[in-house]
Amino acid sequence: MEKQELESYIKAGKIAKEVKDFARGIIKPRMKLIDIAEAIDVKIDELGGEPAFPVNLSLNEIAAHYTPTKDDETIAEGILKIDIGVCVDGYIADTAFSIDLTEDGKFKEMVELNEEILSSITKIVKPGVEVHEVGDIAQETLEKWNEDKNSNFVMIQSLSGHSLDQDTIHAGLTISNYRNENKNILDGAFAIEPFVTTGAGDIYEGNAGGIYVLQSNEPVRDRDAREVLKFIKEDYKTRPFCLRWLEKEGFSKLKFVLSILVRQGILHEYPMLIEKSKAQVSQVENTFVIADGKVICTTG
Ligand code: MN
Ligand code: MN
Repeated sequence: MEKQELESYIKAGKIAKEVKDFARGIIKPRMKLIDIAEAIDVKIDELGGEPAFPVNLSLNEIAAHYTPTKDDETIAEGILKIDIGVCVDGYIADTAFSIDLTEDGKFKEMVELNEEILSSITKIVKPGVEVHEVGDIAQETLEKWNEDKNSNFVMIQSLSGHSLDQDTIHAGLTISNYRNENKNILDGAFAIEPFVTTGAGDIYEGNAGGIYVLQSNEPVRDRDAREVLKFIKEDYKTRPFCLRWLEKEGFSKLKFVLSILVRQGILHEYPMLIEKSKAQVSQVENTFVIADGKVICTTG
């Protein structure tokens, strides 16, 4: 890995970690998700980063892919996953944590287990580590926890970690959180993200959650749509974005324009990922870089 690239990954990670600590400090039960999102957007900017994707603020059975719009009234309650992406020169830090917002600590144990799984993985991630070793230790940690505490948590097997590349969040390699046979060697930049639940351990795709990405280079006829598309290509490139960012740029008829672009297949709008039995979900995530015979957890 080039020196410049490594430095950008490290800088992005440092910013993402600071934003994560900041978010932990401001989030209170019953706060509006839009206020959390706006504060995080401002913080990333203040620290000299760019968002790699809109912050995902996914509540309860929603595992991922929800970001609030400007007039969103949704409030934080139950368990909230805060998934933050920061990039520097397109090099990404992808990191997430979960907060139990209940008065009786209903999801405290699930979050603790989830953190324990990530920390057990962190201990084995080093140069030469094979992809399956992540899943092996993750599942072993979960099984031991269930046995010791007589609990019944399960891993969401359909959600995985992934390699990272410049302006690319899912860069090909899938890092499963359960026992597997993948003997590929982990190298370069990648994110590890176990998801734990008490439900079925699977997800389905729900309604759109307000996060879009450019997916085709087809031309568009509508004049307003063309103007918005030009901005998207220049500013977000192949990184996901959301309506509230575009609204700040002063475009008109945005909802209409985005719907045209989605219908034409030029933009993709991500569906929310929802736990199959609608059980609450916890997520934790860190980004790692393995380069020059060393491992760095950039967001830890
Ligand atoms: Mn993430
Ligand atoms: Mn990720």
